[in-house]
Amino acid sequence: MQTDVVVIGGGGSGLAAAISAASEGAKVVLLEKDVKLGGTTGWSIGTISATRTVNQKRAGVVDTPEAHYEDMALFSKKYTTRADNDALRRVMAEHIPETADWLCDCGVEFFGPIEEPPHRQPRMHNALPGARAYIYHLQRRAEKLGVRIITGAAASRLITTSERVTGVAFDAPGTVNQIAYANRGVVIASGDYSASAEMKRQFISQVVSDTEAVNRANTGDGQRMALELGAKLINEDIFMGGLRFVPPAKPAWVTRLPPWRWLMRATNIALGHGPQAIVRGFVMRFLTTVLVPSVKLFECGAILINSKGTRFADESQKLVAELAYQPGACAYIVFDHALAQQFEQHPNEISTAPGFAYAYLADYQKNRPDLFHQANTPQALAAKLGMDPAALADTIASYNQTETPTDTAPAIPRRGKRPRLDTGPYYALGPVKNYINFTDGGLVVNESLQVLNTQGQPIPGLYAAGSAGQGGLLLKGHGHHLIWAFTSGRLAGRHASRQNAI
Ligand SMILES: Cc1cc2nc3c(=O)[nH]c(=O)nc-3n(C[C@H](O)[C@H](O)[C@H](O)COP(=O)(O)OP(=O)(O)OC[C@H]3O[C@@H](n4cnc5c(N)ncnc54)[C@H](O)[C@@H]3O)c2cc1C
Repeated sequence: MQTDVVVIGGGGSGLAAAISAASEGAKVVLLEKDVKLGGTTGWSIGTISATRTVNQKRAGVVDTPEAHYEDMALFSKKYTTRADNDALRRVMAEHIPETADWLCDCGVEFFGPIEEPPHRQPRMHNALPGARAYIYHLQRRAEKLGVRIITGAAASRLITTSERVTGVAFDAPGTVNQIAYANRGVVIASGDYSASAEMKRQFISQVVSDTEAVNRANTGDGQRMALELGAKLINEDIFMGGLRFVPPAKPAWVTRLPPWRWLMRATNIALGHGPQAIVRGFVMRFLTTVLVPSVKLFECGAILINSKGTRFADESQKLVAELAYQPGACAYIVFDHALAQQFEQHPNEISTAPGFAYAYLADYQKNRPDLFHQANTPQALAAKLGMDPAALADTIASYNQTETPTDTAPAIPRRGKRPRLDTGPYYALGPVKNYINFTDGGLVVNESLQVLNTQGQPIPGLYAAGSAGQGGLLLKGHGHHLIWAFTSGRLAGRHASRQNAI
């Protein structure tokens, strides 16, 4: 198979790369390992952080890429002492306005802009009805431009001719080691390595390696293939992960709405101007499907128990490492009525989705009955959860008794100053699991998204975008990962298609 540009991966960055190369007149083949397009992009909440957007202009917000570039540094400083890749951050900030316009032109409708300090202007935009809208519209745009999309096609090796990358070997159902030859260039857009136990162990830790990924298809194949040609990884130890409620067996109806532009435009207007009670009810159905429990629950006294009814860890950790080794790798958040009452109003939310709203206990009871459990006594609660009633009652009783640290189980902190759990009824929220959302280790790239070797020289014919081409960018704050995926994908596709043909 002979083409101009081969793109590896059909998430946000890969679709953007394919569309951009095809818009330049290149023949494009896109290889996607999964049976359908989407990747982590399709799993995400769908928030982008952007400037000079139609939404900002409509809201009378005056903003600049320069200000965005500066504000991103404030986020990085807030979360880490590590240096950002300033050159890539500048390229990204400069191109964000055109990426946002392009997404709208493809058919994506955004809710927002919403404030997120330390951004000096509201920049958070949420795709409606969620990230699925990106894949729906970008797939259509790619197909319209004649991109040949092959799903179930796992790229396995880069082909070189006189040190220039000239193709990709891939395995598809029924055929192994097919080759797609690229006259102009190859773009690696195969995401991160959150699902590679081996890479997570090598670069991060055993616990992270033992913790499942949100997206099981991203096994760092692109990084591995480029490393084989002398490329280099940066920030390979950075990752994002933590507790999440398990997803609902059946997604809420609002999240299944077709992302047609006219329907989402109407939804957007209703969200902006409809009666608050109805709007909130609508938003809650989104919110309660994208759930990260607030750490405040634990700070205020909730405990984390496994399915045997016992505490097993310090629940205040960002990643409760021990959860990976509990039965079924799942747990429940348990608390009493006194604490439940605190989590019925601001500022004590059970969870939040950036830019939309806060969800309180009653929202869970109404919208996620599968996660909400209540009973008058610890024993009755345990029975509802299929646990040994005596075990849960013992766990709560011993938590209530101990106030000072003992050396019997030092990893499990005592109650300390937290209130006793002794006012019925008792509640459990869960199951919760630990997930690795993404890893941030990307290939080192230059401002044209060319992959660099360990000497800092471009590997001819090879480009990378999105997580695979993160190049040392920190992307802290909401919405920077996705906007980087789309922006870097578009740039990589454009640069690859402009290469001289071999
Ligand atoms: C739960 C969750 C919520 C998030 N929410 C947000 C958010 O709201 N805003 C934000 O900015 N970021 C968010 N992120 C992060 C963001 O989604 C990712 O950083 C971004 O989608 C990465 O895009 P990508 O194109 O690089 O990778 P992906 O979208 O993962 O695409 C990579 C594709 O490559 C394919 N692939 C892998 N290996 C091969 C191979 N060998 N051959 C062919 N194809 C291959 C994969 O199947 C996949 O389809 C979230 C992440 C998670 C997990």
